[in-house]
Amino acid sequence: MSEKSLYGLPEKVIHCQRCVMHNQKPYSVNEVTHAKGSKKSGMPVDEEGVCSACRFAEEKKKIVNWDEREEKLLKLLDQYRRKDGYYDVLVSGSGGKDSMYIAHVLRHRYGMHPLTVTYAPLLYTDVGRNNVWNWGRRAGADNYVFTANPDVAGVLAREGFSNLLHPLQPFKFGIKSFATKLAMRFGIELVMYGESGVEYGSGGNDTAEDATYDMSLYTNDAKDIYLGGVHMDLLKEKYKFSEHDLYPYLPIRSHEVVGYKIRVEHLGHYIKWDPQTMFFYVAENCDFEADSQRTDSTHGKYSGVDDKFESLHFYCQYIKFYIGRCRYDTSQEIRGGHITREEGIALLEQFEREVPERYLADCLDFMGVSEEFFWKTVDHARSPHLWRKEGHKWIAHQELPSMRELI
Ligand SMILES: [Zn+2]
Repeated sequence: MSEKSLYGLPEKVIHCQRCVMHNQKPYSVNEVTHAKGSKKSGMPVDEEGVCSACRFAEEKKKIVNWDEREEKLLKLLDQYRRKDGYYDVLVSGSGGKDSMYIAHVLRHRYGMHPLTVTYAPLLYTDVGRNNVWNWGRRAGADNYVFTANPDVAGVLAREGFSNLLHPLQPFKFGIKSFATKLAMRFGIELVMYGESGVEYGSGGNDTAEDATYDMSLYTNDAKDIYLGGVHMDLLKEKYKFSEHDLYPYLPIRSHEVVGYKIRVEHLGHYIKWDPQTMFFYVAENCDFEADSQRTDSTHGKYSGVDDKFESLHFYCQYIKFYIGRCRYDTSQEIRGGHITREEGIALLEQFEREVPERYLADCLDFMGVSEEFFWKTVDHARSPHLWRKEGHKWIAHQELPSMRELI
């Protein structure tokens, strides 16, 4: 391999032999310092051809004693459960199946008093709006929805798309600090997330007994802050944004958390995390609504259906890393034992390369970019080690053999 890798990922694509993921999956990067041209490292695939997410799934099955883990969860919740009925745990989410599940089990199985908070998607789908509207009601919890100023959100999405081919980068960064900011404001000392990033190969494997996350993961004292790949000072100058306009996207500084005792946990450490099981649970217990039609670029209709931007986000990932929505979904289903690798490949062949047309025009309109600019930017972001042009066609020359030509 001698073709240049645009994002600092390994030049040779190594496919996992168990799932359909590969080593172009970026390992977690610190998003706030993510400037244009930042380098990433890829998810390891070991000498036996198995990726770190599959190894984690294997350890989850073999090593982890889930009864003991639930005992630990009960002890943890006992420390925080309040007798006066005030909020004792904060759950942040869109009202999708995962967050609905977390709030419902905390309330009904473990007798907690969750406050649910939502950092609204950039562009709600109809089904997403219904689910967030019903989230609190069905979980038996209060819900606050925060909607970022669309004038600022649209500009940041455009910068993220233009510079990083990552329109959701500023939004995801906003979400990251949102729960802790709200927990501080409401005086809630426990924040519960769902699955940990290691489930998808986004960080080192951690099956350790201690799941407590250090607050340093949620604070950031970097001097230079980049949003959508642009330095904050430049954003202020270019768009006349004030510090306040950008506040929802800014990290929490370590001096701000002094005096607060906030514990951040992942329920997935204590309860075996399986998206399909969660979907059945919320469909049965919370009247959770799946989409009425198949999601673009994949075969399912109940994961990540809240934001119109979600499909575009995954398509951008496919262009940059060969990892589209179907690849994420099928890899997880293979690891969960729901489908075989062969079935996963058949699904990829059918859906992975699909252009997400359903909401594309809405997203482009929100960002204020033309379709011509969109395709120019997409093609510019194709790394030569992954793509080459033959005539008018792009060839994905390191994809699985049956998927090298775009459909
Ligand atoms: Zn794998």
